[in-house]
Amino acid sequence: MTLRIGNGYDIHRLVADRPLILGGVRLDHELGLLGHSDADVLTHAIMDALLGALSLGDIGRYFPPDDPQWAGADSVVLLGQVNQMVGDRGWAIVNIDSVVVAERPKLKPHIQTMRTTLAQALGIAPEQVGVKATTNEKLGPTGREEGIAAYAVVLLSQMERH
Ligand code: MG
Repeated sequence: MTLRIGNGYDIHRLVADRPLILGGVRLDHELGLLGHSDADVLTHAIMDALLGALSLGDIGRYFPPDDPQWAGADSVVLLGQVNQMVGDRGWAIVNIDSVVVAERPKLKPHIQTMRTTLAQALGIAPEQVGVKATTNEKLGPTGREEGIAAYAVVLLSQMERH
């Protein structure tokens, strides 16, 4: 079996008057993430991990932040497009693991919904999508609630050709 591994990282700034969307799930919080799209850091990290596994560059190459086409874009839709690229090249997702680094809000109650939402966009089972949450113990930019960061790792296997 031929396997490929990819990793992704993203961080976005927390500001007032923006929705907070993580893993395609809108959370109730007084701050949201700033970005050209919906600034969903978790979904962006997973997209970069998928692209990275196949050495296809990063999301900025396919969805440039200066392109008005992607203003306010739903990142889960963009994730579906990246997933299509992976599938078109003959690769299937074995599993994804990810971590969101945020002091607040509490993410635990929303983890299952994020896993289900992401799995649905990727056409895989929620069991294949790991989402974890941690604080940064008040250290650094995420610890000071200046932003939220996410890390993701993805494993791909080459589909059998018949
Ligand atoms: Mg991003």
